[in-house]
Amino acid sequence: MAFLDKVLQPPAYGWKDMDGKFVRPGFKAILTEFFTRLNVFNNRKNWLPFFSWLKILCLVPFVLLFAFKFLSIGNVAAVFVYGMIVMGTHGTIWHHRYCTHGAYRFRNRFWRFITQNLTLNIIPEEIYVISHHVHHAKSDQPGDPYNAEGGFWYCFLADVNHQPIAKDLAEMDYKRVERLMAHTGVKGNSFKQYQYWGSYVKPFNAVLSWIINWAFWYCAFYLIGGHGLACSLFAAAGIWGVGVRTFNYDGHGHGEDKQRDGVDYNKKDKSINQLWPGLVAGEWHNNHHLYPKSARSGFKSYQLDMAWLYISFMYRLGAVVSYRDDKAAFKAKYLKLTPVTVAAAVANK
Ligand SMILES: [Zn+2]
Ligand SMILES: [Zn+2]
Repeated sequence: MAFLDKVLQPPAYGWKDMDGKFVRPGFKAILTEFFTRLNVFNNRKNWLPFFSWLKILCLVPFVLLFAFKFLSIGNVAAVFVYGMIVMGTHGTIWHHRYCTHGAYRFRNRFWRFITQNLTLNIIPEEIYVISHHVHHAKSDQPGDPYNAEGGFWYCFLADVNHQPIAKDLAEMDYKRVERLMAHTGVKGNSFKQYQYWGSYVKPFNAVLSWIINWAFWYCAFYLIGGHGLACSLFAAAGIWGVGVRTFNYDGHGHGEDKQRDGVDYNKKDKSINQLWPGLVAGEWHNNHHLYPKSARSGFKSYQLDMAWLYISFMYRLGAVVSYRDDKAAFKAKYLKLTPVTVAAAVANK
């Protein structure tokens, strides 16, 4: 069996039936799987998805404080900017383009650390990265951890039901997980420790970096705008942490063919370019499936890509030493524009 066929822990309802057809579980089966795989008392190896949802739970009091104590026009604006733009764009910069696709390289660990901790720490890198490689290899096919054909809940609860790594990997396969994670700087378990914890990331390191990250940001926000701003921005992170789970279902057209000619050029899967995730987070998802290793996904003039703006800014600063940019390749192949005609078009404007 190929590595990407076995690296994720399969759900109890399976990825596919005996004929190789995708299994679409009912809501009850999805929910049962969700709570079974969150149960750390039953199996300590469930700790990582449990930890991820624990962070979301810890943010609920901040949402309540924002809604009932600190509600003001200024704080609503801050929640919008932080929860939509800052958190969303950071997810694209860090988890997606760097940790998964290696679209650019940092000069050193310092700049990697700064970029990793630019926002509140919420989504564990390991859960995102490994499963996202599978998503690209099997987009909209059985085994895709957030196959949109499975429906909203199949995708929404995927970080628990479909994305964690398998708990019974052979040492050789665990080494491949290590290789996929090495450049992220996340401290990994030895194979023996993995057999005990069921995860790549070391629990102690994960908890410590979470506490330091949240303590730092609460103090920073407090110094800027007191408890009102700090609670509001923590609330924003919580709202984002729930809202981002809807992206994979939306980004693949709810499992239907929603691609538009002249907008979506990649026809191999159901991914679509959507205005909102594109504008706030640089997630031009159809473009991204065309050129997954590109540090830029906004290829057309209206396709604002703030994640790319950050990466190119870091490059000018010297914090990023190299990146891959497939914009010219996209224009040449799909818009039939050569660099010369692009330059002429700009000159004629
Ligand atoms: Zn996708
Ligand atoms: Zn990707």
